Amino acid sequence: MIKGIKGVKDLLPEETPRWRFLEETARRWASRYGFHEIRIPIFEVTTLFARSIGTSTDIVEKEMYTFQDRDGTSVTLRPEGTAGTVRAYIEHNRAAVPVPQKYFYLGPMFRHERPQAGRLRQFHQFGVESLGTADPRADVEVISLLWRMLSDLRLPGLTLEINNLGYTGDRDAYRPHLVAYLKQYESRLCVNCRNRLEANPLRVLDCKVPECRAITETAPRLAESLSGEANSYFTKVLMGLDAVKIPYALNHRLVRGLDYYNLTTFEVTSTNLGAQNAVGAGGRYDGLVETLGGPPTPAVGFALGLERMSMLAPEFERAKMLDDASIYVAGFGDQGSMAGLAALEELRLTGLTTVSDFRSTTLKAHLRQADRLACRFTLIIGDDEAVKGSAILRNMETKAQHDVTLSGLAPQISSLVTSP
Ligand code: ATP
Ligand code: MG
Repeated sequence: MIKGIKGVKDLLPEETPRWRFLEETARRWASRYGFHEIRIPIFEVTTLFARSIGTSTDIVEKEMYTFQDRDGTSVTLRPEGTAGTVRAYIEHNRAAVPVPQKYFYLGPMFRHERPQAGRLRQFHQFGVESLGTADPRADVEVISLLWRMLSDLRLPGLTLEINNLGYTGDRDAYRPHLVAYLKQYESRLCVNCRNRLEANPLRVLDCKVPECRAITETAPRLAESLSGEANSYFTKVLMGLDAVKIPYALNHRLVRGLDYYNLTTFEVTSTNLGAQNAVGAGGRYDGLVETLGGPPTPAVGFALGLERMSMLAPEFERAKMLDDASIYVAGFGDQGSMAGLAALEELRLTGLTTVSDFRSTTLKAHLRQADRLACRFTLIIGDDEAVKGSAILRNMETKAQHDVTLSGLAPQISSLVTSP
């Protein structure tokens, strides 16, 4: 037997209504905030991700699905959505469009990680990118979208953490202080962090290993090296969050260790998620468009993991699914079967959700299937009914039955199934 790949999940029909609900919630909230959907490719040339995510990150160092195309080009399955979105923005010269470019995307991402609860190799993200606006209100707008949507879903135990990364110059000023401090404890840092110390010391602050966390707790803080300009920008973001009444906690360890990330960075976590506690994260990345060859373009966005969102929202009423399969057609006997087939067709063409199980040959077997499929009504057509040109509509809950005629069937059924 051939099995699916580890960390790559099937979503069976019992689960898809709930996923659709989550996706529709995301779409609805994005559109309320004026974000429009962009659909970017599943794979891109590898250099796009290497350059935009950064070579000293976990993603680029060890998580990308990279392979050679037949012509020798190195291509990669997208590990996130910002790189492709920014590439499309540049390629289609969206900077020339005279209104803010606000995009959202929804779809699968691929990272070679160790699969566990809430960590998959093919997972799904909802993300937004607000391009072209260097105003603290744009930061507040994306944070608000993230926060309000998660709150609307009533996800438990949420916290919004936020930090100020300042500008490149601020971090250049800070880095030597941090490195000098960390060097004192080098032998106690995890192997990854010892490497980060050289390549990207700020990312040591982000490490989840308890020993590293204990060490960085008392490290010099980036906040102490920030310029007045960076401080005043961040103050406005916090004032905006206060104005729209979104609660936040400052977390000086929240970093994205790359040069084109700057100023605001944030993450929403949940206490109900265990080890993989981040639901969504984002920040400002004013340097990225230029790094990828576009015009200087300020930008801010976030990405949210749908699997983790789904884990947090386990209970959705079955009612949502019941509405789906509403009429069952029980056609049996030679003539009844044919008349049943015609009835299915007619009801479907008028827009009613109509199903049957063609393996059932008796009324009893049909009714059992109608119950299993949670149909609210069953249209019964045996040979006797077919000969008379009639059928019986049975309400599966009340057991009440109505005679109907096969000619002009659809309008009769429509009015019976919609009447209270
Ligand atoms: P983590 O610290 O969990 O590895 P990350 O910093 O790699 O997260 P981002 O790249 O910021 O995550 O992605 C944003 C969101 O996407 C995360 O908060 C998480 O909800 C989700 N996510 C990231 N990687 C995975 C994965 N392998 N499986 C499921 N969801 C994921
Ligand atoms: Mg990760």
